[in-house]
Amino acid sequence: ESVSLGALFNYILDRFDMIISGRKPDQKQYTIKREIPETDVWVEVDPSKFTQVLDNLINNAIKYSPDGGVITAAMVIETQEVIIAISDQGLGIPAKDLDRVFGRFFRVDKARSRAQGGTGLGLAIAKEIVEYLHGRIWVESKEGQGSTFKIALPYTLEADLEDDWGEPDALEEKA
Ligand code: ATP
Ligand code: MG
Repeated sequence: ESVSLGALFNYILDRFDMIISGRKPDQKQYTIKREIPETDVWVEVDPSKFTQVLDNLINNAIKYSPDGGVITAAMVIETQEVIIAISDQGLGIPAKDLDRVFGRFFRVDKARSRAQGGTGLGLAIAKEIVEYLHGRIWVESKEGQGSTFKIALPYTLEADLEDDWGEPDALEEKA
């Protein structure tokens, strides 16, 4: 299924903004800043699976953010692929664990993670889904400064698709 990635991304973030606006003053505060271009791209994804991936990345960013933390949700269109990045100002991940966080049941600090809740499966599932979509997922992080989780996906420009649909020859041949 071909999906407008920027539109889907904004839709997912709207849900999180609704949750934030409903939070009580004594609960942890955070904001999600969007860096999403006007130009959209088309990607081959199952919207519900892609939503599951982003829900986990954003929920992780929230879980590991300090009170008042800013989470950045960015989309960058490169020549070959589109990059989705979720950044936080949280605890970060030790260099030796950067690949291991995508393993099943892996959690950086057992005690800390248990207190935060969850199963340790979210990123393993995210990796499986992203690879099924012919994409890549990885993390860049500095301990104590925060983490950025990135997803790269192959895309088609919206304009390219419209050109294909507008092709009159193919339609006429069928008629
Ligand atoms: P689940 O997603 O199943 O509810 P979880 O969030 O602990 O549980 P994952 O999403 O797979 O599991 O993350 C694995 C581990 O990676 C986490 O337990 C945590 O130690 C580390 N981690 C994930 N995201 C971040 C982040 N943004 N900042 C710091 N550590 C993180
Ligand atoms: Mg998680």
